Amino acid sequence: MHRAPTRLRTLALASALPIIFALAACQPTAPVLPKVTTAKATCTTDTSRSIVVASSIVSSTRQLLAAAKADGLKLCGGGYRDAASQIAVRKANCGPTQYDIYEKPASQCTPPTAKPGTSQHEKGLAIDFESCQTKTSACYKWLAQNAKTYGLKNLPSEPWHWSTTGG
Ligand SMILES: [Zn+2]
Repeated sequence: MHRAPTRLRTLALASALPIIFALAACQPTAPVLPKVTTAKATCTTDTSRSIVVASSIVSSTRQLLAAAKADGLKLCGGGYRDAASQIAVRKANCGPTQYDIYEKPASQCTPPTAKPGTSQHEKGLAIDFESCQTKTSACYKWLAQNAKTYGLKNLPSEPWHWSTTGG
């Protein structure tokens, strides 16, 4: 008989949980990604700067930068973004409301910007190269020829965006 109240409390909590989760679901949030271990690849444009990427691709990124430099192309750019930075980029590119930040399709942002929790930048697996704004740039042309050797693919709608998946 001593156990009955405990069981009742457990039952009460168990039946309240779906309601608690339903209430939490009303607030838009981003999927929480596993923590990313990052490392720096020194820029060849300016050795005081670096591209922060996932540790898993830092060595291939360094090799890409060295190979481009050997061909006369110096590179720098932006790699890893934490969750707060991705939200800030969504705010800037998609708009200020909760809908704009968390729900608006990426394609409706200028430039297109992945929803928080879904960007390859948040995994440290994407780089936006600074001198790659167009497909006629020397940067784009070199990467189009060589990036695949180092495991990076272009997102066709964004000449500057290169990632392990092309997404
Ligand atoms: Zn990007």
